Amino acid sequence: MSQLFDLTGKTAIVTGANGGIGQGIAIALAEAGADIAAVARSDMSETAKLVAAAGRRFLAIQADLATTGPIKRIVDETLGWAGRIDILVNNSGIIRRADSIDFSEEDWDEVMNVNLKSAFFLTQAVARRMLARGPGGKIINIASMLSFQGGIRVPSYTASKSGLAGLTRLLACEWAGKGLNVNAIAPGYVATNNTQQLREDPERNAAILGRIPAGRWGVPSDCGGAAVFLASHAADYVHGIVLPVDGGWLAR
Ligand code: NAP
Repeated sequence: MSQLFDLTGKTAIVTGANGGIGQGIAIALAEAGADIAAVARSDMSETAKLVAAAGRRFLAIQADLATTGPIKRIVDETLGWAGRIDILVNNSGIIRRADSIDFSEEDWDEVMNVNLKSAFFLTQAVARRMLARGPGGKIINIASMLSFQGGIRVPSYTASKSGLAGLTRLLACEWAGKGLNVNAIAPGYVATNNTQQLREDPERNAAILGRIPAGRWGVPSDCGGAAVFLASHAADYVHGIVLPVDGGWLAR
């Protein structure tokens, strides 16, 4: 049974792995045996320590995914370090909040560039390597409840995460027959920087909490098991799903 989920000898690129959900996923993949190439703009030493504590190797790649500029370097540095890329987790993401009637083009472009455009072109660059090597690659996109629902005051975020769910399905259709799995995880409401504003607003905090059947906000480690599953042989015949990890939010 354990071999189904064993990632020993695998190398995973995890974007946005310095904290939050990306860090939770990086640690879970490392605990399952994978070495981690982490991508972010800021310091990643905390994740480095946690991955080392799990007994795995760690590479920090400082890069700003606001543009596609660093993508080639991310792939080259990972291949130079590990010689292989088995798993890609597109987790880097930002959110901008404002009424749609006032929403700026800048807030539209910034979110779409990080959450959707860079995720697609990093996936393309990594998939070229994976497909050249043969079957076995796993790509995991971090979607959202707003891949299913409308949300409020976050138009570019909803567009980006709904787009990412669509891309997950499209890429799965193109690559499933080549043994490359593309899937997504849709976290519910998780206590990270991304949701700090919501948690600091007593009314929104109570409304959100009151609607989560599990009765608590998620924590980053809640997404770890789903990531290990989708990165492992256990998911070899799973293609194009958007797996909610949401404390029951969508079931409500
Ligand atoms: P977070 O703590 O704010 O993490 C966001 C991550 O994205 C950080 O590691 C950040 O690293 C990275 N990032 C942002 N801009 C970047 C850029 N230009 N280039 C490279 N990396 C960049 O929030 P989080 O909640 O863990 O978010 C992680 C993912 O989960 C996002 O895609 C988010 O949309 C998604 N998500 C979150 C929730 C939730 O409730 N928290 C729910 C559904 C989906 P640097 O700032 O160091 O670059």
